Amino acid sequence: MKKIQMVDLQGQYQQIKETVDNSIQEVLNSSTYINGPLVKEFQKNLEDYLDVKHVIPCANGTDALQIAMMGLGLEQGDEVITADFTFAATVEVIALLKLTPVLVDVDPKTYNIDIDALKKAITPKTKAIVPVHLFGQVANMDAILEIAKEHSLFVIEDNAQAIGADYTFKNGTKQKAGTIGNVGTTSFFPSKNLGCYGDGGAIFTNDDELAHTLRGIVNHGMYTRYYHDVVGVNSRLDSIQAGVLKAKLPLLDSYCEARRNAARFYNNAFANNSNIITPTTASCGEVCDTCNCHVFHQYTLQITNGKRDELHKHLLDKGIPNAIYYPVALHSQKAYKDTRYKEENFPVTNNLIKTVISLPMHTELDTEQLTFITESITSFLK
Ligand SMILES: *Cc1c(COP(=O)(O)O)cnc(C)c1O
Repeated sequence: MKKIQMVDLQGQYQQIKETVDNSIQEVLNSSTYINGPLVKEFQKNLEDYLDVKHVIPCANGTDALQIAMMGLGLEQGDEVITADFTFAATVEVIALLKLTPVLVDVDPKTYNIDIDALKKAITPKTKAIVPVHLFGQVANMDAILEIAKEHSLFVIEDNAQAIGADYTFKNGTKQKAGTIGNVGTTSFFPSKNLGCYGDGGAIFTNDDELAHTLRGIVNHGMYTRYYHDVVGVNSRLDSIQAGVLKAKLPLLDSYCEARRNAARFYNNAFANNSNIITPTTASCGEVCDTCNCHVFHQYTLQITNGKRDELHKHLLDKGIPNAIYYPVALHSQKAYKDTRYKEENFPVTNNLIKTVISLPMHTELDTEQLTFITESITSFLK
């Protein structure tokens, strides 16, 4: 059996080596390392793939979130609501911009922002909602858009984990994750579903005016060379990374499919184990097993018999990598503690941090590996 990896970047590279190498060579041949033609080409290809008017490439997913919030003109004291159960980057940029982060609990089935908790958190100071499409599953955008409309709030989708996912609205129309709110952001960190070989990120929007503003902000606030209209940042996707991404983008759908297939294998293997809760795919509120609203950036189980930590160690001993995403609720983190937060308002997150475990999930998992992983887990949790 091949050694099991949490994310098998080397195995994936070997499958696409020629295209990626050629793409990188093209950049070396042209020596246009910053804002080269491949950056434009990748931008255009991603706009077509996502069916969105504007893609603004930038240096990483955290910058993408920060620049999106700067572009919307959010100001000190404005409240921005996001999920308590996510990677810290989401709340970090809110705090960094001196906006007021408001963390709310998540849904016990999808682990995405809880709609009732979101409604309760709205005050006259609320300006934006940041749904995170956690672990690759799109948040309930029907409900989020409705709330945003009612209260005139911006919606910023943190789509670092769900690029390629489709959201199906209640009326049956489909839209790519990240292109539904006023603005969406993503990360091309190597282990993300569309990863480059370094850092990278992008911002998506259908709003022409916002796109123009964002293009200036990523480039030192310049709209005309050496004229700085607003305070900006320096955040670029470099040409080599764009070359890697251009080579990998045509494979994204097949990558999503490979992840869903691995998830299906896991789901079947664990279906009858009373100590395990498998992921629910129910973005729009209804359980769906065939839709593409979950692209499994992570495959995350809940272990209900209190043996999560023992399982974690047991699997590591057997050579099966696994991880706890996330071990601490954001509202309990030193950096983000706030006297406004009451423990009783976070029952779901407080439970998840004790029960979740994420299994190896990538595009190169084979049946032999999946069988070994699932048998190791079911025999331990008999
Ligand atoms: C990875 C990630 C980010 C940050 O992306 P970087 O490219 O690492 O800066 C932001 N939000 C979420 C939910 C992520 O998973």
